[in-house]
Amino acid sequence: MIHIQTFIFGPFQENTYIIHDHSGVGAIFDPGCYEKSEQDQLLQYVEAQNIKIDKVINTHCHIDHVLGNEFVKKHFQAPLLIPALEDPVLKAVQVYAASYGFPQYQEAEVDEFLSEEDELVIGETPWKILFVPGHSPGHLAFYQEEAQVCLGGDVLFNGSIGRTDLPGGDYQTLIDSIHQKIFALDDDVTVYSGHGPSTTVGHEKQTNPFCAIS
Ligand SMILES: [Zn+2]
Repeated sequence: MIHIQTFIFGPFQENTYIIHDHSGVGAIFDPGCYEKSEQDQLLQYVEAQNIKIDKVINTHCHIDHVLGNEFVKKHFQAPLLIPALEDPVLKAVQVYAASYGFPQYQEAEVDEFLSEEDELVIGETPWKILFVPGHSPGHLAFYQEEAQVCLGGDVLFNGSIGRTDLPGGDYQTLIDSIHQKIFALDDDVTVYSGHGPSTTVGHEKQTNPFCAIS
């Protein structure tokens, strides 16, 4: 049994997720917290649920998904895991962070690089890693088979798809990632996206104006 808690942070309305299982150990995905009130919200939840956070993970490294990396890494003394091909994307953030209105942004040191071949365990629960480039060149999604959930980042949204006009983005690559990796999952898999409400694979297959399969 896994539990997924959603937080919505910042002007980009980015979804940060805390996932833990029966073991009480969990991971923070895409910490977008920047303001102290946002940091406090995360800490209060972790404390109230008595979760031991032992990983910080990025699906990809655009600014809205990494703003809180350094804070949570330091606070929980937890390693930061990012997609191997997202390293230059992360490095670029400190160059443009101030111009985006985040002058206090601090880059966190990466502890481990992830790729599709790796195995990820959160608490005692195994997650599969899917390579889904297109929105960002190294983007990864995370799939838990038993719970039928997929953390999709900014690949597929409820009724939309990720933008492809940022460096390393490519429209056809994104559509291929969705069709080959996300739509290969069962129709009733719930997709938790980087922005907006969750959806299901089946719903997007049928109704998404960008990538539905007719
Ligand atoms: Zn993004």
